Amino acid sequence: MSQEVQFQILPEEATDDAFLKERIKTELHISNDDFTFEWKKRSIDARKKIIKLNCSFTVYSQEETPETGISFQPKNVKDCPPVAIIGAGPAGLFAALRCLEIGLKPILFERGKDVRERRRDLAILNKEGIVNAESNYCFGEGGAGTYSDGKLYTRSKKRGDVEKALQWFVEFGAEKDILVDAHPHIGTNKLPQIIVAMREKIIEQGGEVHFGSKLTDLNVENDQVKEIQLNGSEWFAFEYVILATGHSARDIFELLHRKGIQIRAKSFALGVRVEHTQDLIDRIQYHGRLNDDYIPPASYSLVTQVDGRGVYSFCMCPGGIIAPCATNQEEVVTNGWSPSKRNNPYSNSGIVVSISPEDFPGKENDPFVCLDFQKYIEHKAWEAAGKTQKVPAQRLLDFVQKKKSVDFPRSSYQPGIVSVEMDAIFPPFVVNRLRQAFSDFGKKMNGFLSNDAVVHAPESRTSSPVSIPRNPETYEHIQTKGLYPCAEGAGYAGGIISAAIDGMKCAEAIKEKISGGKLY
Ligand SMILES: Cc1cc2nc3c(=O)[nH]c(=O)nc-3n(C[C@H](O)[C@H](O)[C@H](O)COP(=O)(O)OP(=O)(O)OC[C@H]3O[C@@H](n4cnc5c(N)ncnc54)[C@H](O)[C@@H]3O)c2cc1C
Repeated sequence: MSQEVQFQILPEEATDDAFLKERIKTELHISNDDFTFEWKKRSIDARKKIIKLNCSFTVYSQEETPETGISFQPKNVKDCPPVAIIGAGPAGLFAALRCLEIGLKPILFERGKDVRERRRDLAILNKEGIVNAESNYCFGEGGAGTYSDGKLYTRSKKRGDVEKALQWFVEFGAEKDILVDAHPHIGTNKLPQIIVAMREKIIEQGGEVHFGSKLTDLNVENDQVKEIQLNGSEWFAFEYVILATGHSARDIFELLHRKGIQIRAKSFALGVRVEHTQDLIDRIQYHGRLNDDYIPPASYSLVTQVDGRGVYSFCMCPGGIIAPCATNQEEVVTNGWSPSKRNNPYSNSGIVVSISPEDFPGKENDPFVCLDFQKYIEHKAWEAAGKTQKVPAQRLLDFVQKKKSVDFPRSSYQPGIVSVEMDAIFPPFVVNRLRQAFSDFGKKMNGFLSNDAVVHAPESRTSSPVSIPRNPETYEHIQTKGLYPCAEGAGYAGGIISAAIDGMKCAEAIKEKISGGKLY
């Protein structure tokens, strides 16, 4: 029988297998060398000055072999029932992969381009400030998850589902470390080839993937989806449609509303993206320990309450870059990414305030109330930045002390930065909470509240400001049969892993409907 063992070691001991074997012998009172072991989990404990690694191992006796477990078992689905999947983000891709396992034919329609072509549009956006409304950091193969940090942790409690999603990432080329690390991450440089491998598998097994294919209309008869329209012209018959279009597909929310398909306003979070040097964050989090090969660039997670409302850090990217994530020319949006080694000299995170429909008295029932506010802030930022993709910015201490910044340290945001006071962009109920939260965070992390840090605005695409209601058991839209609102854009996921899991669940719900409850 295999056994599990946990203990703490110094980070520099983690790669010394002989040391680890001796330590396991001591911990488990084993007197011989007739066993093998493999890492199970690993996390940094930096609470005290001497940094430790929490580790756990599975230990196998000589006769046992570690389970390799085939995690992904596709079938040829060429002649299986077709399912239209709109959007090739993590949700759409994982829905398609799950279709291959359970005998459905996935036909993926993505408005953007494949990952290679998409990279060119991102270069133009970064260098010339030109936003391609169909191909940007949010739209295109792999969705918003492609050029991201690729952090794969989630608050989802369903361990089995999370393990499965992580194993599929490994199946398509991610490092096995993501199965072990407490805070797994892939990195922008490695995600594109993983996504290409997923696409190739979908096609090889009889599915289809179409780029430049934007859903523009739906034909619904007697509350049942009958057809989808692509690119404003061609119609295709489909009885099952997974709508995995993400939080930035505003035209989809408008389309559903126009068709009388119910949508609802949803809370989201809004704020700024703050950038420090990574050295500063390492020094704070690792008690002065710097440039160390044995410990990863430090991260942080901060939360406080200001006037009865949560303000918190979001999508923290150690060794990262702040990216221009607008999906239209006349708006400015920030987000962050990191390469796999997280070796840029900067660290950034969103610091955001929760916004809810109740913030707009009298308009709580307007499904667009939060989306309109999000749009308004993004447009205001664009105007404040001189109607360019430059980003409004303010030194952190200047922001807290209500002073305009006269100059800046270097920023990772490639299109450039413009000095703007945050009060010119956000209303008082947001900006005052952010100001107070930064003061609180300065007390929690000594040195965080530094004038060498810069806030960039806005961080506004944290989650969808609209939800598309569905039946929690069947996953179908509450009134429209055959329509499966999926993942982040519909309000059922936040992040790559939870979106991927929701995609798989939507595929399963369709199979169960077709086959009267059976998955296989
Ligand atoms: C820069 C950046 C960094 C991020 N970092 C992380 C991170 O480290 N970890 C993490 O967990 N999350 C991260 N996120 C968030 C994460 O990417 C999203 O939560 C996740 O991608 C949501 O998946 P989804 O499939 O629901 O939607 P999306 O990824 O948004 O995919 C939706 C897809 O649908 C397509 N689409 C939209 N409308 C249409 C239409 N009408 N017709 C056809 N196709 C359409 C879009 O082009 C897009 O490809 C980051 C996001 C960004 C922008």
